[in-house]
Amino acid sequence: MNKIEITPLFSGSSGNSILIKNGKNLVLVDVGVSRQRISKKLNTYGYNLEDITAILLTHGHIDHVKGLDIVMKYSNARLYCQKECLDVIGKYVEKVDDNRITTTKEIFTIGNMEIASFPLPHDSPCTGYTFTTSENKVAVLTDLGKFEEDLFEVIGGAKTVYIESNHDVEKVKNGMYPYQLKRRILSEKGHLSNEDCGIVCKNLYKLGTRRFLLSHLSNENNTPELAFSAVSSAIQEVTSEGDFGIYVVGKEGLED
Ligand SMILES: [Zn+2]
Ligand SMILES: [Zn+2]
Repeated sequence: MNKIEITPLFSGSSGNSILIKNGKNLVLVDVGVSRQRISKKLNTYGYNLEDITAILLTHGHIDHVKGLDIVMKYSNARLYCQKECLDVIGKYVEKVDDNRITTTKEIFTIGNMEIASFPLPHDSPCTGYTFTTSENKVAVLTDLGKFEEDLFEVIGGAKTVYIESNHDVEKVKNGMYPYQLKRRILSEKGHLSNEDCGIVCKNLYKLGTRRFLLSHLSNENNTPELAFSAVSSAIQEVTSEGDFGIYVVGKEGLED
């Protein structure tokens, strides 16, 4: 009952969702795709929407909440999110019974997992999470323009970290996006670059993380190879052991 498994289901601007499993508890972090897509994906792992016990939201951008209202209708899941997020997702929860919504505090529990939530700098109120049992600790960090150093206290020691590695800075600067959009992506309230993700992962390695799931890659401004090599070379600055794994999460989750 203390095992925690994390399975990325969808990632990137076309929709995000992660499955976290602890015993009988199945938690979805974000529902950024349609009910059909999420149902189909869950089926491939042997689950149905009715099996979902809880939905946690990181923030209210459409790529994280697109299917929320319908998924709430077709499941019995309880919704957990911070008050600031609830305020911006009005239409996605207007038909949801208030009794099914928990406004999260910094620490709460689902099953055997103690869950800590913490704010991330983004252009919509955004939250990261850690899931901890006596056996495991997993952290989820997406979307964030900047990594605040004091977060190491919260997420340090997580064996697995799911983290945004959104873009290659040079690709954004030289790309086709309009100036305002470039500025937004690169700002401290936008998205985390491969390089910054590498620095965070290097420090997390020193604190015990051995499994890195790189996610929310930009279609236009990144490639799996660029994200992988930025993070891998950063971690290799502090270790010559091959005792860690880096996995790049695709639009449809982890493809092997
Ligand atoms: Zn966002
Ligand atoms: Zn996003």
